[in-house]
Amino acid sequence: MHNIKDLFKSVLSNDRILTDDNEVMPYSRDKSYFNSVRPLAVLKPKDSKELSEIMKIANENKIKVIARSGGTSLTGASIVNTDAVVISLELMNRIRIYKDDQIAIVQPAVKIDELNRELARYNLFFPVDPASSYISEIGGNLSTNAAGLLSVRYGPISRWVLGLEVVLPDGSIIRTGTSTIKQSLGFDLTHLFIGSEGILGIITEAKLQVISKPKDAVSVVISYDSIKDLIEDVKIARVELDILKLEFLDNLSAKILSKELNDMQIKPGFILNIEAFDSASKIESLFKDKDIKILKDDEKQKFLFSRKRLHDYLESIVSKEGKDMLVEDIAIPLSNLYEAYIEIEELLKKEEHYIFGHIGEGNLHINLFIDKGDIRHYEDLTYKLGELTLRHNGTISAEHGIGLEKKELLKLHYKYLNSEHSLELIKSIKRLIDPNNILNPGKVIDL
Ligand SMILES: Cc1cc2nc3c(=O)[nH]c(=O)nc-3n(C[C@H](O)[C@H](O)[C@H](O)COP(=O)(O)OP(=O)(O)OC[C@H]3O[C@@H](n4cnc5c(N)ncnc54)[C@H](O)[C@@H]3O)c2cc1C
Repeated sequence: MHNIKDLFKSVLSNDRILTDDNEVMPYSRDKSYFNSVRPLAVLKPKDSKELSEIMKIANENKIKVIARSGGTSLTGASIVNTDAVVISLELMNRIRIYKDDQIAIVQPAVKIDELNRELARYNLFFPVDPASSYISEIGGNLSTNAAGLLSVRYGPISRWVLGLEVVLPDGSIIRTGTSTIKQSLGFDLTHLFIGSEGILGIITEAKLQVISKPKDAVSVVISYDSIKDLIEDVKIARVELDILKLEFLDNLSAKILSKELNDMQIKPGFILNIEAFDSASKIESLFKDKDIKILKDDEKQKFLFSRKRLHDYLESIVSKEGKDMLVEDIAIPLSNLYEAYIEIEELLKKEEHYIFGHIGEGNLHINLFIDKGDIRHYEDLTYKLGELTLRHNGTISAEHGIGLEKKELLKLHYKYLNSEHSLELIKSIKRLIDPNNILNPGKVIDL
């Protein structure tokens, strides 16, 4: 058994090596339903050099390491699932902005909301908006290829990364990419690390492309009795409008949101929220026979605020009921979405569940209230949902990643592609970069 304090004291001051129960336990869990174990310790490096020294020691002593940014993973990606030290990146939160180049260089503990507050001073904007932008951090966003409310227009975070600094399991520090949007440099190492969920290296800096702040968009809410009509209008909106956001709530989620927004009087039903750079009259005439409400500026802000906190509202209901929550994150092409939706409702007809999401990309978050005593039942449902999604040409995860939850479904994904060799290739890359399997072991793939 290692004495962690002794091992790392040559690198970190005592106050940055946490070992007491009350200090380490808050770092053991993420936002998934999985059980965690006590971290051996929490280490807080303040730069990549310190992290490099930590990794050398961990690698020599075969100590497992889990990188942690905001700890908001919904798939168990940042949960402590084995004897491991947690690397908390919380002291690495510097932002540098280069206005003329439209670049921001950020450290992993920066939150996107913080970055956008800084960028606003230069009339700039980072166009990735996970609903967790107030709690998750860039290190985790990059490592899960996060997306969110703006991805129907701007895509996931991977589109906006020009280069990275990464510390590898053996302590080497590598840098990838360059400062220009166009780069043709052979093998694209930057994007090898994006979405890799901390199993290949720890990101210590990212060079991000930013844009000039978009003008204000018009926001409308339309209520529907029928999900089929709603999905048809999503297809119309994507083609006919200059879309910024396309968000969806099923009638149960809409009820919860309406409670938070009681002065806004949203009609019950399935809800579609459209934000577009078009005039209100154009949007109204496009959906003229629908139950449409144009949001005033303050209503738009309130709606967005509450939409981003829907998960928190559900969490508080779930904890009152003494249950847990499993959040699914599938996406299905719009042409198959209605048929898939009906099948999903059939599959979940006996379960308490709430569906909302970024419907412009067919991305549905299915929030299932679960009873931890019967976890096999929910694992079975997750697998069936994954199968259903793949049958409709969808993805088992649009933005949350694989973590502990979707390892079996990742296998099925490659089976559907008739490309099981891809999985072997991923394992080979992991073994090459991390031969001792110390980085976030047991997540994404089993070796
Ligand atoms: C309320 C709520 C709303 C959400 N909405 C969205 C949404 O709209 N869109 C979306 O994409 N996701 C969403 N999520 C999921 C979650 O916020 C994202 O997966 C997010 O990107 C995780 O970031 P984090 O900083 O919390 O990462 P963490 O949970 O700390 O880590 C996630 C993974 O990244 C690894 N990691 C962390 N930092 C580093 C690093 N520096 N280098 C290498 N690996 C690292 C971890 O080991 C882990 O595998 C939501 C979650 C919640 C709770």
